[in-house]
Amino acid sequence: MTLQGMSFPRTLLEFQARFPTPEACRAYLRLVRWPDGFFCPRCRGDQAFPLPHRNLEQCKSCGYQVSLTAGTILHRSRVSLPQWFWAAYLMSTLKPGISALQLQHALGLGSYQAAWLLCHKLRRAMVRPGREQLVGPVEVDEAYIGGREIGVVGRQTATKSLVAVAVEVRGHRAGRVRMQVIPDASADSLTPFVVTNIARGSRVITDGWRGYAALEAKGYRHTPKPQRAPERASKLLPWVHRVISNLKTWLLGTYHGVDPYHLQYYLDEFTFRFNRRFVREHAFLSLLGIGVQRHPITYKQLRSSESSG
Ligand SMILES: [Zn+2]
Repeated sequence: MTLQGMSFPRTLLEFQARFPTPEACRAYLRLVRWPDGFFCPRCRGDQAFPLPHRNLEQCKSCGYQVSLTAGTILHRSRVSLPQWFWAAYLMSTLKPGISALQLQHALGLGSYQAAWLLCHKLRRAMVRPGREQLVGPVEVDEAYIGGREIGVVGRQTATKSLVAVAVEVRGHRAGRVRMQVIPDASADSLTPFVVTNIARGSRVITDGWRGYAALEAKGYRHTPKPQRAPERASKLLPWVHRVISNLKTWLLGTYHGVDPYHLQYYLDEFTFRFNRRFVREHAFLSLLGIGVQRHPITYKQLRSSESSG
């Protein structure tokens, strides 16, 4: 069996048949980690036997033990491998995504806290380090995203957050998107967003806001479209406005608004799913593939970073 040779489960029943047990999940992780077969990092041996109860592979030549989940979001988790796989599948293939509460019920997880942590670990795995920049023409605009998270006790209605959005224009459809929470709409905030996310030399289309005035000097072909009346904004920048509208609908419908501190993770989830909307099966593969490269994070780290934010 190879990764390339695997047909992706198209239905929940097919998924259940593919990954019914922890061993089936481990077989998949072995393929992800060693597409060409086991390779011992110490002695270069190519034979290993499994120590399933600890998700370890032991080299037959030198006895070195390699963890199947080390360095992944699965590592040292009390959630079982099939539950992880189900969570990744549901989050990457269900069009609106899935909330922690839905996940808790769907997988029979013992607590809302466990489901919440699972969701956030997967969201953090959705940002590919060193991902490629967008290529022009690209529409860029900012939008205010607001609301509060239902069930958050002792917190005032949060102020709205400003989000910068970039969308590739590809003829009669949108290409990839990038989104980032920014502190304000000044050139000091907008210029770095463009420089980080869009390849130099690209055509960048914006409204007439002065926050974009420095783009030519940074090596972009800037096309400002001065706005004369508010209702024309969606016609001047149709693609970025359509994406922002979809984002707001999704945030309200799926999560009933989100905590501003976590907004960037929800933006990353939206971006992840949007950029893979034509190849949904790749979303699951890259979610676990990305996970292999990410460092594990604990609930305590998440909560402490939240309270300090
Ligand atoms: Zn070895």
